[in-house]
Amino acid sequence: MFTKRRVLGGVAATIGLIMVATTASPAGAQPESQDAPQRGVYEVRGATAAPERTAVAGSGVDVLGVRDGGMTVVASPDQARGLRASGFALEQVGDFDAMLARRSGEARAAGVNDFPPGDEAYHNYAEMTAALRAAARDYPDLARMSSVGRSYEGRELHMLKISDNVAQDEDEPEVLFTCNQHAREHLTTEMCLHIVDRFTSEYAGDPAVRQLVDSREIWIIPQVNPDGSEYDIAGGQYKGWRKNRQGRGTDPNRNWGYRWGCCGGSSGYPSSQTYRGPSPFSAPETRAVADFVGSRVVGGSQQIAAHIDFHTFSELVLWPYGYTYADTAPGMNAEQARRFQDIGRQMARTNGYTPQQSSDLYITDGSVNDWMWAEHGILSYTFEMYPRSGGIGGFYPPASVIPRETARNDDAVDILLRAAG
Ligand SMILES: [Zn+2]
Repeated sequence: MFTKRRVLGGVAATIGLIMVATTASPAGAQPESQDAPQRGVYEVRGATAAPERTAVAGSGVDVLGVRDGGMTVVASPDQARGLRASGFALEQVGDFDAMLARRSGEARAAGVNDFPPGDEAYHNYAEMTAALRAAARDYPDLARMSSVGRSYEGRELHMLKISDNVAQDEDEPEVLFTCNQHAREHLTTEMCLHIVDRFTSEYAGDPAVRQLVDSREIWIIPQVNPDGSEYDIAGGQYKGWRKNRQGRGTDPNRNWGYRWGCCGGSSGYPSSQTYRGPSPFSAPETRAVADFVGSRVVGGSQQIAAHIDFHTFSELVLWPYGYTYADTAPGMNAEQARRFQDIGRQMARTNGYTPQQSSDLYITDGSVNDWMWAEHGILSYTFEMYPRSGGIGGFYPPASVIPRETARNDDAVDILLRAAG
């Protein structure tokens, strides 16, 4: 345990320095765009406490992963200089664009939105849609397809419901799984599709699966951000894209409506990777999912009891709140915090991830978990999937790991489904 007061003092100084570094440009100018050339991938050392990591994230760099006190970030030369001036040690481990190009291999024909050769097992939007249609067609008594709305570019935000008597709204605890809020985190789409496959194709043969499907209503949204996801693979070249495709892109996971933009855990600059948007739920994608969740309030009571939002990477199980370092806060008493911790740790024991409160990493505001819990009392977790650490390539593990890394969460998913009772 660190002494919070001393660290906070040091961080105030750090933040001050970063403010100086980023406000030196003329009035009205924005910090350097993430679209700028010559972005480097860096390991940041010296950010060993959460307030220091919040300062690093708040400087506008693109945080790729956080592990064991180290951070991997993408930074422009100006941002790297600013962080060094603030006392952080940065070691460049690669060039962002070169690493992406190396990982992508030869470009596909322009206009072909698909994964690069070798990564065909990943599902693009059309393939994801087809997989959901196939599940609904092959298991009509168990699976039903719908949409929660449309993305900014007009794509359906497909959802699959899985339950026995799927056409009826039964009085059973409901659990929601969402994936791919962040475009480049393609392994999460596979995670949601794995859940679909498991709870349909194994229903007949696996008594544990059958028991869960019979006693729960399971909602699965494999791509919350299909526009960003398709853009990220356009032309068969990975782009390291995180946000949606509205203007310069809004970070969906800073756009949720609880304590939106409150606490230095998001950015007001459209060029930033953590741009929160001009107002809460300004992103059609978060608005649509939030409206769906709101529609599950039946007779004054929210039917969805539990939720996992899948991300990559760092191998973490995270729980709210993200906007404050405190374990308890309005809407989260000690007993509720303990329940989050207990179930989070139980799940983490099964997949080997590290369990912690989200803000133990750094402050985020406008995240899905804070909103789900504060507004709807939903036991809402974030899973940061494989790999444990890495550079920009951490978002693009080889397709060969998909079966192993999705099945790795089977027991954790079952624990949450049971806890929802
Ligand atoms: Zn993410």
